[in-house]
Amino acid sequence: MTKRYGNKTAVDGLTFSVHPGRVTGFLGPNGAGKSTTMRAILGLDRLDAGSVTVNGRAYAGLPRPMREVGALLDARAVHPRRTARNHLLCIAQTNAIPARRVDEVLRLVGLESVAGKRAGGFSLGMGQRLGIAVALLGDPKVLLFDEPVNGLDPEGIKWIRELMRGLAAEGRTVLVSSHLMSEMAQTADHLVVIGRGKLIADIGITEFVRQGSNVLVRAEEHELLVPLLTEAGATVHPGADGALIVTGLEPREIGRAALAAGVVLTELTPQRSLEQAYMDLTRDSIEFQASVA
Ligand code: ADP
Repeated sequence: MTKRYGNKTAVDGLTFSVHPGRVTGFLGPNGAGKSTTMRAILGLDRLDAGSVTVNGRAYAGLPRPMREVGALLDARAVHPRRTARNHLLCIAQTNAIPARRVDEVLRLVGLESVAGKRAGGFSLGMGQRLGIAVALLGDPKVLLFDEPVNGLDPEGIKWIRELMRGLAAEGRTVLVSSHLMSEMAQTADHLVVIGRGKLIADIGITEFVRQGSNVLVRAEEHELLVPLLTEAGATVHPGADGALIVTGLEPREIGRAALAAGVVLTELTPQRSLEQAYMDLTRDSIEFQASVA
């Protein structure tokens, strides 16, 4: 999909799929295009090119959208004088969702005791819980959360993480955005990383962690070097054009092993990790630095 605002390309030929039963982290610095993409999934923005489907259909073509996709985009989008329960009842009514589901979701998000209070007086964390209650109202199989932990205290963050993991464990599709690598590393099973509207990586967390410590090695006599590296605790995989991809040893240790074996190394290159790539990318983003500080 591609989405432009005037001459600014917010999302640029982005393609990815999100699968059920796992938490997919949607990672990118501020301004990368995450919200635009989520809005596009919900059919809230007209795309300049491409398309998005949910359960095989465009959002606009879903017969009962709230029962298929739930989303937390902007938790502040609540009528301030309405109580939490009334807010949910209104939405339930317009979407043909039974009223008893309102009490279920209030319980799920832990807002039962303040259900009769005006949402305008809610703290950020309570507002976030109310937004999540709306997302869960139709008991949808697909859930989108845009920066759900922004501004929350550690307890709120832990609660949201556990909720997302629980929803994925029930077999639901969970897409959650964040500009923080560390947050995603703790929550997601899979990562879709974007920068300036473009896809940077679509990768499992395990693979992502492994990628961080690879060294590309070329030597004149692999057959002598490989057993030594393995003995030293490394895992060695064949790379492109006869190279070796070594995991578990620092370049210096690989160099020492080669020296000991009298093998000439022709290349010894630490692979730039995705985390490094992500940091390089975010260095350009003033908002990101401000939020880290
Ligand atoms: P993210 O969610 O990753 O922070 P966004 O999707 O909000 O990124 O924004 C992507 C880019 O598109 C940014 O440069 C942003 O300024 C721009 N943008 C987003 N929404 C609008 C809009 N309604 N009008 C003009 N530019 C927009």
